[in-house]
Amino acid sequence: MDAQAAADRRRKLDAVLADLRRECGPSLRVLAVAAERRAYETDALTSHRVLPGLVLLPADRSQVAPIVRACLRHGVPYVARGAGTGLSGGALPTESGVVIALAKLNRILDVDPDRMVAVVEPGATNLSISAAVAGYGLYYAPDPSSQVVCTIGGNVAENSGGAHCLKYGFTSHHVLAVETVLPDGSTVVLGSDDIEAPCYDAPGYDLRGVFVGAEGTCGVATRIAVRLLRKPEVVRTLVADFPDVPSACETVSAVIAAGIVPAAIEMMDNLAIRACEDAVHAGYDREAAASLIIELDGPGEECAELFEQVSALCSEHACTRLRIAADDAERAAIWAGRKAAFAAMGRLSPEFLLQDGVVPRTRLAEALAGIADLSSAAGLRVANVFHAGDGNLHPLVLYRESDGEGPAAEALAAAIAELCVALGGSLSGEHGIGVDKACSMPKMFSPADLTAMDRLRAAFDPSGLCNPNKVFPTPALCGEARGGAYQPHPLEETGKIQRW
Ligand SMILES: Cc1cc2nc3c(=O)[nH]c(=O)nc-3n(C[C@H](O)[C@H](O)[C@H](O)COP(=O)(O)OP(=O)(O)OC[C@H]3O[C@@H](n4cnc5c(N)ncnc54)[C@H](O)[C@@H]3O)c2cc1C
Repeated sequence: MDAQAAADRRRKLDAVLADLRRECGPSLRVLAVAAERRAYETDALTSHRVLPGLVLLPADRSQVAPIVRACLRHGVPYVARGAGTGLSGGALPTESGVVIALAKLNRILDVDPDRMVAVVEPGATNLSISAAVAGYGLYYAPDPSSQVVCTIGGNVAENSGGAHCLKYGFTSHHVLAVETVLPDGSTVVLGSDDIEAPCYDAPGYDLRGVFVGAEGTCGVATRIAVRLLRKPEVVRTLVADFPDVPSACETVSAVIAAGIVPAAIEMMDNLAIRACEDAVHAGYDREAAASLIIELDGPGEECAELFEQVSALCSEHACTRLRIAADDAERAAIWAGRKAAFAAMGRLSPEFLLQDGVVPRTRLAEALAGIADLSSAAGLRVANVFHAGDGNLHPLVLYRESDGEGPAAEALAAAIAELCVALGGSLSGEHGIGVDKACSMPKMFSPADLTAMDRLRAAFDPSGLCNPNKVFPTPALCGEARGGAYQPHPLEETGKIQRW
């Protein structure tokens, strides 16, 4: 950047700051020193880093609209940020821009146990919602494995999922209304007239639905009304081992075809099973070619009957061992193994790339066979551990940077994403497009599709200042080197969150 551009950038940021000091007073926390801003230069996609021009931490949600208005007035780009656990670079800032860090807005504002609704601030962590309502026998269902730290604002932006979203749906199914500061600085409630008493089916266009999953490009969420569920009476979990991958995939389809919707169906292939077992000693069969973890929940009698049916379907599909969790401790051990999968990959390879793609559930076997072919053609191993019930694959491309395998791993990960699209699936299941996959969007969407999406985005944000350079391919983004080795989020290193 030349000196003139840098001076211009500084002048605009100073103007934003001067306005905000007047409007918001000293309670608005400002991080202007480079060392303080550094903590906001990346999310969990640590291969992308940009030092933001300014970081603002509102102390109160009434400060968000003045920030957005000041940015608009002075032509400064901005990005909302929750916990920074995003895996697609969605919260990546711009050098000339502002990060609006919402972590301090973390209150549970209201719980209505009769209507089974909670109204929360965007910086509330996913798990804090369930914790706040547990006393009523309620919980918030979407369960990303980062739920201890990721925020509901980030979940809304990414339409986040988790192992139990097969039965209960993704974030979009649980958000009733979103109070939003739009990019013109006005505040509206999307999805309902009254966020404190949200309706379940608001008339008119579903703008709430547009906002959820828009990756922070349509405004900044300041209050969110979420649907709560009653905790299930009974939870039962089994592990089924199979002699080959297709048998496990066919079992997944057979269970769903039988009209059964388990709370979760997760799958691991042999590489993943061995790594997890060696790391956690969960009692998995190291010789199984594939294992399914199937969990059912609901009323006791119904659960017992469906559990019998699922067990029978596993046996019909060549299951070699059926292990049923005898108690909560065994259930926890089974899940601990699954949750340790990504961390356990370190036993197999010093580096790996994590993909996130979707295929139709009926084409799982085909997808895994295709991944195996691509893997042998590239001479690199791929471990598979994923949300099988949703067809949401998380292939892990294992490689050694020191052997110069990085570019081949990149190419293989991209080929896997394209395979998912070719099989009628999607580029992303739950981690979003962000900057990571923006350049792959034309593989899935026609120019007309992308133009239509861009027009929708522009209807919310004609200035283009709200989280720019995300989701859509741009010459700047697509000219850059893509991706990079897996690097743990600092909270993964402390063992607080797991990636799975
Ligand atoms: C170890 C690990 C495990 C994970 N497991 C899962 C998983 O199981 N399932 C899953 O779906 N994801 C998972 N993720 C990804 C990540 O946790 C989710 O995408 C999560 O929703 C991000 O929340 P955050 O608060 O960290 O958001 P950030 O990373 O801070 O931001 C994510 C996006 O949300 C936008 N945003 C944040 N707050 C707001 C707001 N108030 N208004 C508007 N936009 C906003 C940002 O601009 C950005 O585009 C995992 C990540 C890690 C590191």
